[in-house]
Amino acid sequence: MESESAYDVVVVGGGPAGSTLATLVTKRGGRVLLLERERFPRHQIGESLLPATIHGVCRLLDVFDDVEQAGFVRKRGGTFRWGRNDEPWTFDFGKASVNKALNFTYAYQVERSRFDHILLQNARRHGVEVHEEATVGALVEEAGRVCGVRWVESGQERVARARYVVDAAGHQSRFHQRAGKREYSKFFQNVALYCYYENAGRLPAPNSGNIFSVAFDEGWFWYIPLSDSLTSVGAVVAKEHADRLRGDPEAAMRSFVDKCPRIASLLSSGTRVSSGPYGSYRIRKDYSYTNTAFWAPGLVLIGDAACFIDPVFSSGVHLATYSGLLAARSILTCMQGRLDENESFGEFERRYRQEFAVFYEFLLGFYDMHQDEESYFWKARKVLRSDDRDNSAFIQLVAGMGTTADDFFGLRGESGEMLQLLVDAVADPVEGGKRRQERLASLPADARQLAERAASAPNEAGRGIIAQALPERFGAVREALSAPEPTTAHIVPSRDGLYWERRQPETTQLTSS
Ligand code: FAD
Repeated sequence: MESESAYDVVVVGGGPAGSTLATLVTKRGGRVLLLERERFPRHQIGESLLPATIHGVCRLLDVFDDVEQAGFVRKRGGTFRWGRNDEPWTFDFGKASVNKALNFTYAYQVERSRFDHILLQNARRHGVEVHEEATVGALVEEAGRVCGVRWVESGQERVARARYVVDAAGHQSRFHQRAGKREYSKFFQNVALYCYYENAGRLPAPNSGNIFSVAFDEGWFWYIPLSDSLTSVGAVVAKEHADRLRGDPEAAMRSFVDKCPRIASLLSSGTRVSSGPYGSYRIRKDYSYTNTAFWAPGLVLIGDAACFIDPVFSSGVHLATYSGLLAARSILTCMQGRLDENESFGEFERRYRQEFAVFYEFLLGFYDMHQDEESYFWKARKVLRSDDRDNSAFIQLVAGMGTTADDFFGLRGESGEMLQLLVDAVADPVEGGKRRQERLASLPADARQLAERAASAPNEAGRGIIAQALPERFGAVREALSAPEPTTAHIVPSRDGLYWERRQPETTQLTSS
């Protein structure tokens, strides 16, 4: 006989998206069931992470220290042999003003089996009821609303009812169809062939932990150091080559490596791993797609279940965890009756699409191999509407900070860390506007000193971030620093980062006056 139980939220899938959402909802008292088809640790691709995940979401999840102590390879940035310039070029996350202001200056290269396991264990520790080897087979619906799932564990079929069902089942999700249609990009229809090497070479210090991305005639390579001895190597090529990859992966990989002298040279000291979880060639379709809708009554799609973008900027885990954060906020906000579902889930979808769109729009230009890095940086400035003159917009975008910065401020402000960051943020002094100068002059001495330091953060976004993150008692400083342009966003994250709230009309007035 079927057993039945009731929850606030049922999450389908225990990857980064699912465990992020489950942990955050549980942190604010929600009762959450997470069902994962496999037993962790399990293999997954997507090993190069972004600073927004490590310093933003992992801190909110209280798992930052565990990740820091896991011994993963530190990633300062990326190195590309890309475009018409034959020489590799490198970017450092720490060079962009917004990243610097928030201290989002590095990320990690991770074995996903270990990283995902850390996040799932953390969810358990926070009180999420996690079942592994538990497969969801169908959604349960009543009166046009999703209200639960049918799932199977140890051969027994069960029903779990919930106010919200979260589809975090990744690219293989079938439940996304309940919300809308999956639409594939015309441009990014690639296939990846990848494997692992032992004792292969490294880029020279200080870039030895960077991802190395190398374009060649048929596509591009990733080269990711996962430990001192283990390297993930993958070739991403157009779908026309798929049969060749499946027929003889070894020969296909050899022919790709032969076309990339830089990759060939790094691999020359190494041996392909031929046993254990990293012992075989793997092939993954990686077509980019978005669902026409990211939610329906009672159902929310996060991570790859909602959308996926070509991995050249390692954005997958960032989008998965960031969407987990956004959707958790929407669920918690509705559970408390603070906003209605249309507004709350509308805000989740708007922000998730916006961050996806930034990567997508930028990638369209990045795949044009006839350009050099300066034109890519220009394109990034255009996409982010930035007036920076250097490569800051590019770095901000590829750090996962293109549209997300205000999602993480509250967090830094709450911890008191922001004050120290304010002091550290002084760089490239810029001319403050006359109005700001006047406001600064009217402040009490201690506040003025603080504000002057913060005002020299190198761009409007940086100052805005700092302003928002300041504790209440520095309200006057906040005003002085606020961006002169009125913002159109009227729903903003709460200071603890876990709810949505309406922007107070007074704030809009202050920033626009
Ligand atoms: P997943 O990690 O896929 O997790 C979904 C989970 O749901 C799985 O554990 C699965 O077992 C479970 N599940 C599925 N169906 C059910 C069911 N019916 N019942 C219960 N459980 C179920 N991203 C990066 O950040 N960096 C990279 O370098 C990178 N490289 C990539 C390279 C390639 C070739 C590809 C294809 C992707 C790459 N990605 C990268 C993207 C990354 O792999 C994904 O974006 C990320 O794993 C998405 O996380 P998720 O939690 O949405 O889904």
